Amino acid sequence: MGVLIFIIGLILGSFYNVVGLRLPNKNSIIKPGSHCLKCNHKLAWWENIPVISYIFLKGRCKSCKEKISFMYPGMELLTALLFTISYKLFGFSYEFYISLVLASLVVLIFITDSKYMIILDEVLIAGGVLITVIEIIYQGIDKTLISLGYGLVIFIFVYVLMLIGNFLFKKESLGGGDIKLSFLAGMVLGVPVGLFYVMFASFLAFPYAVYISIKNEDGMLPFGPFLVTSLFICFCNSNMILEFLQALFKVT
Ligand SMILES: [Zn+2]
Repeated sequence: MGVLIFIIGLILGSFYNVVGLRLPNKNSIIKPGSHCLKCNHKLAWWENIPVISYIFLKGRCKSCKEKISFMYPGMELLTALLFTISYKLFGFSYEFYISLVLASLVVLIFITDSKYMIILDEVLIAGGVLITVIEIIYQGIDKTLISLGYGLVIFIFVYVLMLIGNFLFKKESLGGGDIKLSFLAGMVLGVPVGLFYVMFASFLAFPYAVYISIKNEDGMLPFGPFLVTSLFICFCNSNMILEFLQALFKVT
């Protein structure tokens, strides 16, 4: 079963590459079919198999020999890996389906935020709808409404953080996408772990932020990849984090 889920991950990852690279430019995700960005060579089916074709073609276009970005097989492998981890951790359960949605968000936000500095509303809305539907099916309406409330709490928390950040640094600190993503985080993590998710994302981003300021690039730091990575890690370890927080507040 693990192998099948890995393969589904590869195929969906390949689809996420197309969505993540085309949708921000308002290009159709259906037409034209996959092609080389340099010479427009249309890919035959055997040149378009996730990961395998990349290895087979030695990472180059068959027609013009232009290098194919490692991001394509990289994102396919990442999706497959996160899907497999989800299955190994949770089996077929409520947590598994939520985890698949979060893994998909990780990949899509990695692509769009690192390349275009945006998190697509379409991606967040699709993620939000899927999470809500899965919660209603597995937890019932009442619990789903409560989790929407948790979403709102974390949303407001991050929104206030953004206002403080904008005031302190006199420039945009967090994007709208980061705040909307945090609503989904609150939904699936609840409030204590949801607050931890924000702290943990800052912790993950810190070395990169230092690196950027040392290199003195005036490039903005896309925070989305760190937030969504933190979200996935916190969801997979939420029990441990909850115990940790309880122990922490018992002592102090
Ligand atoms: Zn080419």
